[in-house]
Parts: sequence; C-alpha cells; structure tokens
Amino acid sequence: MPAPTTPPVAARRAALDALTREPFDVLVVGGGITGAGVARDAAMRGLRTALVEKEDFASGTSSRSSRLVHGGVRYLEHGDLRLVFEASNERRVLRRLAPHLVRPLAFTWPVYAGARIARWKLAAGLTLYDLLATFRNVARHERLSAAGVLRREPRLLSRDLRGGARYWDALTDDARLTLATVRSAIASGATVVNHARVTALLREGSRAAGAQVVDELDGGEVRVRARVVVNATGPWSDETERLAGATTTSAVHGSKGVHLLVPRARVGNEAALTLLTPQDGRVFFVLPAGDFAVIGTTDSFEPVSPDEVRASSGDVAYLIAAANHFFPSAQLTQDDVITAWAGLRPLVASDASAGDPGAVSREHAVTERVPGLVRITGGKLTTYRVMARDGVDAVQRSLGVRVTRSPTADLPLAGGGLADPLKVIGAATTLIGDAAVAARLVHAHGDQWREVWAIAEREPALRERIEPTRPYVMAELRWAVDRELGFTLADLLVRRIPMAFETQDHGRAAARRVAPFVAQWLGWDSDRRAREVERYDADVERLFGIE
Ligand code: FAD
Repeated sequence: MPAPTTPPVAARRAALDALTREPFDVLVVGGGITGAGVARDAAMRGLRTALVEKEDFASGTSSRSSRLVHGGVRYLEHGDLRLVFEASNERRVLRRLAPHLVRPLAFTWPVYAGARIARWKLAAGLTLYDLLATFRNVARHERLSAAGVLRREPRLLSRDLRGGARYWDALTDDARLTLATVRSAIASGATVVNHARVTALLREGSRAAGAQVVDELDGGEVRVRARVVVNATGPWSDETERLAGATTTSAVHGSKGVHLLVPRARVGNEAALTLLTPQDGRVFFVLPAGDFAVIGTTDSFEPVSPDEVRASSGDVAYLIAAANHFFPSAQLTQDDVITAWAGLRPLVASDASAGDPGAVSREHAVTERVPGLVRITGGKLTTYRVMARDGVDAVQRSLGVRVTRSPTADLPLAGGGLADPLKVIGAATTLIGDAAVAARLVHAHGDQWREVWAIAEREPALRERIEPTRPYVMAELRWAVDRELGFTLADLLVRRIPMAFETQDHGRAAARRVAPFVAQWLGWDSDRRAREVERYDADVERLFGIE
C-alpha cells in the first residue's frame, strides 16, 4: 500500500510542480544565508523567484559559523574599515528585523604583557569600532583594569594580565537566521524546495536559462526555466559554475574553520571572550551558548571538498591548548569535547589567498561571467542582506529592467515582530511552567512562540522534552515539519533544534525516540523510517566525526 500523503509532503510536491510550470525571473541555487537572502530580496522586489537547495537550508557553511552578527573588530587590523562600517550597520538592522534571533552580547578582551595587541592599540581600535558603528551599538566600549577583567571573568589566567576592555557585538543562531530568511522569502511569494539538487544548467544560446533539478528525497527530476540563475552555492560555487560549462579559474577559496562545544562549567567562562592564541597570536573566541561554551575558530586553507569537511584531532588539540592557556584550572582534554565541527568559508579567491587565510578580505564579489548566471561569493553571515541586495541589483541588470530599491530592511524576518523578547519570556514562563523551554521558544520562534506552544496544548504528548536535559519539546518538531520544511531527522535535530550539537551521541538516541512521531507526520512506512534513522547516523558522522 502506498504511504499516505501528509500535508507537508503534499505541499512539497506542489512546490516541485510549480517549479516546472512557471518560467521564473530568477532561480537561486543554494539555500545558505546568501541564497536565502537573495530569494527574499528578489521576491520582495516583485520578481518571480525560485530557490532550490541540494540538502537543507543552512546545511553548508551557514550552520557552521561562530554565530556572531558582528562588526568584525579583527578586520580593523587589516584596515578593512568599509567592511566594519557595513557590518556594524547590518548588526543594527538585523537586531531590528529579528530581535529574537540577533541578541546583544558583551565581550571581554583581556590584554597580557607582551601581547601582539597592546592596551593602547586595543583602546584605539575599539574607539574606531564605536565610531564605525556611528556610536549606535548597544553601548560604547569600556576600558578595564586587570582587577576589572577578573571581576568579570574570575577563572581567567591572571599572570601578566595588564587590563583589557569590554565591547559589544551580537550572537545569533545561524541556521535559524537562514531559515527565518527562507520563510520570509516564501511569505513574499518565492517557490522554495530543499533536498533539490541542481545537476545541470540549461542554456539558450550563450545564456543560462534555468536548471535540471533532482529531487533528493523521493527521486525524479524537473526542469526549471528561469531568465536568470543565481549561483549562491558558497564553497560549492566553482563546481556550480562548471555546470554551465564555465572554464574560468577558481573564484572561491575555502578556508576551514573548526569549533568545539564543551560544558561551560568545565571552562569556567562567565560570558564571551576575545583572545589571542598562545600558539600564533590569532584572534579566537570563547563564547557562551547556554550550558555550553563554544571555542573557535581555526582558519586554514585545506584542499577538502565542502561535502567532507571535518575537524581533525590536530584542530581539536590546538583549540583545547588555547583555551587551557587562558583558563588554566579547566585542564580540558579531548574527553570534554561534546562536539567538534568544521565549515568552509567561501572566500573570494585572490592573490592573497596563497598566504594567510585570516588576512583575506571578507568582502563579497558579484560577477556574471556566463551571461544570465550571476554568482555571489565571499561575504559573511552578518552582511548577507547587503550581498543579497547587490546580487539582486545584478539580476535586474541582467534581466534588462530598471534596478529598484531593495526593501529588505523594511519588514521583519519571520518571527521578528517582538519588540522586547526578554519581556515576553516572563509571560511565556508563567504559561509553560518551564523557564528554559519558555526562553528557548521565544528566542527560536520570536512572535510565533505562542503558535508553537499551542501545538503542545492541543496534544499533551508533544509537551514533553525530547531529551530531559535539553530545553526542546516535541511540539517544536511538529512545527518544524508543518511550517519549517523539515523533512529529515537531521533537518530537525541538527538545524531546526541544535540537539546534535549539544549531546555526546549527536542526537542519535533522540532520533530513535522521535522517529515514530516524524514517520506519522511525514507518512513514512516502517522501511522508510529505518532508512531515515540510518541516514541520520550517516549525516551526524559526516558532520561531527573527527578525522
Ligand atoms: P553556504 O551556507 O555554504 O550555502 C551554500 C549552499 O549551496 C549549501 O547549503 C549547499 O548545500 C548548496 N548547494 C551546493 N551545491 C548545490 C547544488 N548543485 N544544488 C543546490 N544547492 C546546492 N560570518 C559571520 O558573519 N559571523 C561569524 O561569526 C562567522 N563565523 C564563521 C566561522 C566559520 C568557521 C566559518 C566557516 C564561517 C564563518 N562566517 C561568519 C562566515 C559565514 O558563515 C559564511 O560567509 C556564510 O555562511 C556563507 O553562506 P553561503 O550561503 O554563501 O554558503
């Protein structure tokens, strides 16, 4: 007997059908933050827009970042003032568009005797940082004495500490920021399908004219006709360009960055720290993430496929040594590492790429080497809206129509309608009776938190936490299937909720626990359910296995 078609599956089939029917103005390839931003911008400007993503939204680099929406204090050293100015402005815009997802975070930067960046240099840099934010950051930086640093971070190395500073940036959930952007694109009329891989680009004469798309979930292929194709495939973008027969030299250079997640109590950091590695003086962060600390990142050019990029034991040892240097009582070992993961920064290839990856500019580039195929590379999570604006301007030029104003700063992202999330958490806690779950729902879903909790109210089994120690309830998964295009267990447990990052088994036990529910919601029979659990195991091994 064929499996029943459930509403999310029917909606996906309808979207695949729509891909074949309409001739689109623009087809966006790649559902990372860049492609999501382009689709939202294009749809908001009234272009008939489609987006296809080979795996899941943010399954590439956009779920492997340091999760900072930041001006990029580090780039001041390279004189990248324009980028810092632009990123600081974007930090302010994104806090307005998605206050639940982009939240202020104070950083302590301690300075030690003989440090590459001395106290006076740090103070000058942070004054410039405030200036480039036109003094509209959360607050201006403060200089700290050594005692002031230790009051904030009592377990920090005190030997040779000379003082430091405190400054502000913002923390986000990169995968959910991408998802909120995708959902806003859909709300503006875009047709969006995940697990849909472009395998060939269609041509009309010398122009790109659409793509051949394979359905990676249920099989089958569709031809999507579009007047312009946008290559927003980040570290895959040379590969995508080659699908159009382009024989140009490489335009993207992937720099690998690794993060570790460890229990915060083991490190002992109170909040966020910006530090210089004892090994080579590079900037790295120790960031709070609820009960955990995230330590990262590395920055190295490695000839590795974006599909296979992983942390190596050398990367893990390097980050542990750096953290132990500054938190000597922690004595972290590899056994403390709950998760290690890696991403590839899709940097614009340049002559400088041959040398230090940290010195390569994080600016973006928009090109159209094949007519009708607009490519966007480089940039950052923080500046994605600007990249999207420049990309859609290029699309309109390629279409031969007037370039119109990008309206993406005018409307909140999905869930972004809360003026003050902290106030709402109080009311949510009273209703839900679990402060951690309430905070999670408000931060992840913004003004839609009430709709998610309504699912739990209707179906008491879905009030339960998936894992007793983590603040994620079953109702979030139901919402993710119904409203957030979650179609595999990894879509749900890696990117809709970060269970895989926060559990030693990377959510394998949780996957088995939730599979019967998800099977019912998506109409999986018992064979398919078993295959989906196997697929989950393979997905998390690929993401979190250490080389
Ligand atoms: P991706 O997110 O990689 O998206 C490309 C997508 O294309 C993928 O989802 C892929 O599956 C899809 N795709 C590929 N081929 C096909 C195909 N044939 N058909 C369909 N789809 C396809 N930026 C910040 O602002 N703040 C930070 O704190 C920060 N930290 C970082 C830390 C690290 C370690 C790294 C690696 C990056 C960091 N960045 C940060 C940079 C930021 O994460 C990236 O610039 C951004 O995520 C790139 O997004 P993207 O959409 O261009 O690429």
